[in-house]
Amino acid sequence: MVLAQLGGSISLALRQMNDATIFDQKVLNECLNNIARALLQADVQFKLVSDMLTNIKQIVNLDDIAAGHNKRKIIQQAIFKELCKILDPGKPSFTLMKGKPSVVMFVGLQGSGKTTTCTKYAYYHHKKGWKPALVCADTFRAGAFDQLKQNATKAKIPFYGSYTESDPVRIAVEGVERFKKENCDLIIVDTSGRHKQEAALFEEMRQVSEATKPDLVIFVMDSSIGQAAFDQAQAFKQSVSVGAVIVTKMDGHAKGGGALSAVAATKSPVIFIGTGEHMNEFEVFDAKPFVSRLLGMGDWSGFMDKINEAVPIDQQPKYHEKLKEGKFTLRIMFEFVQNILQMGPIGQFLSNIPGFNEELMPKGNEKETQAKRQRYMTMMDSMTNEELDSCDPKIINESRIMRIARGSGRNLREVMEMLEEYKRIAKMLSNISALTGLTRNLSAQA
Ligand code: GDP
Repeated sequence: MVLAQLGGSISLALRQMNDATIFDQKVLNECLNNIARALLQADVQFKLVSDMLTNIKQIVNLDDIAAGHNKRKIIQQAIFKELCKILDPGKPSFTLMKGKPSVVMFVGLQGSGKTTTCTKYAYYHHKKGWKPALVCADTFRAGAFDQLKQNATKAKIPFYGSYTESDPVRIAVEGVERFKKENCDLIIVDTSGRHKQEAALFEEMRQVSEATKPDLVIFVMDSSIGQAAFDQAQAFKQSVSVGAVIVTKMDGHAKGGGALSAVAATKSPVIFIGTGEHMNEFEVFDAKPFVSRLLGMGDWSGFMDKINEAVPIDQQPKYHEKLKEGKFTLRIMFEFVQNILQMGPIGQFLSNIPGFNEELMPKGNEKETQAKRQRYMTMMDSMTNEELDSCDPKIINESRIMRIARGSGRNLREVMEMLEEYKRIAKMLSNISALTGLTRNLSAQA
């Protein structure tokens, strides 16, 4: 996915900034230019990129940052914050309520994946215990009703439409009325995405919206439309009050930056992404973990969820506290490996954390992984409490390494390899926890 390339380019720019021996305005400008180039190449709209740079420069005035503050970290956090700001202009005010029918209208151009997404959205809520229904108000495209009917039947969702009625407003109103009577709590109206004239399409959409009074209008956008995303999203927003965006085909080779532009144009958040043609290839979208992953920083909340799966409930607060403070000791790694061992096959465990997964448990080689974990356990068993509880790996000097190797019956190289791995994970977690601290601060300010 090209979004991953965008993330890679931004991470590279940050790494180059971190590696520079002297940190000055020139290094900062170079870093920001590289980030701007990466965003433009990913089809993010020019104005958005230039606004973002202006904001970052305002936050990061090098002359104003007091000595002793970590300038690089401040810059990294400013970039994270700006990307989140674009992608997350706040949640839509809409919430589903049991016993109250809510109407959600889908708009977007033909081919964007609107009809498929309507069913995915219905199916997602159906699985969560809601009672959704689908209305096909696309009378323009021959076959639209059949497509919706087929999808709805597969997902066991009630549907409404007509082969003969040509007035979309009428069908929409009839469908909504019918499902209100049937006590459905989520009535999804699929509208046409195509018309002979663009003006007529927008007028039709406006009329359907006026007649059905939707609680939420969702704009569906194909992630591959690139630079056109901003204008397209804005055109829709000007005709109906778009409250949320769903970006489809994120599994393809789309550059994906258009999604950022669409959010900026509609000032509405991306709430889901489509990741394939099938019904359940649909994911809730959350900006902060997405940006964290985009920047190669892992996903803290996903990581915490995984910890909760792996460790007994009474031990969870202890882990959370320590990790939040960025204190990843060898003892935590030891207990972690121990708990994971007890869990048996762990599949995608810790996949949220880049690097962690590959090293501690490479995919497809469960046997070797198991042996490696066992080796780590034995070596850590030979460590003293002081070594296990320290956050400073430097205390484990050469003579201690020799003692650990002797005590565990392993060789020096293996002990050093484990310590290297520990250092890498600790560094990664401290990066993530710095970002999480920022995230917490941002949420508190909001
Ligand atoms: P509409 O004209 O906007 O209603 O678009 P459709 O729902 O008919 O979708 C157009 C095409 O895009 C169909 O072939 C869908 O299967 C496909 N499609 C929709 N969403 C996704 C997605 O998230 N990923 C992929 N790969 N294909 C999708």
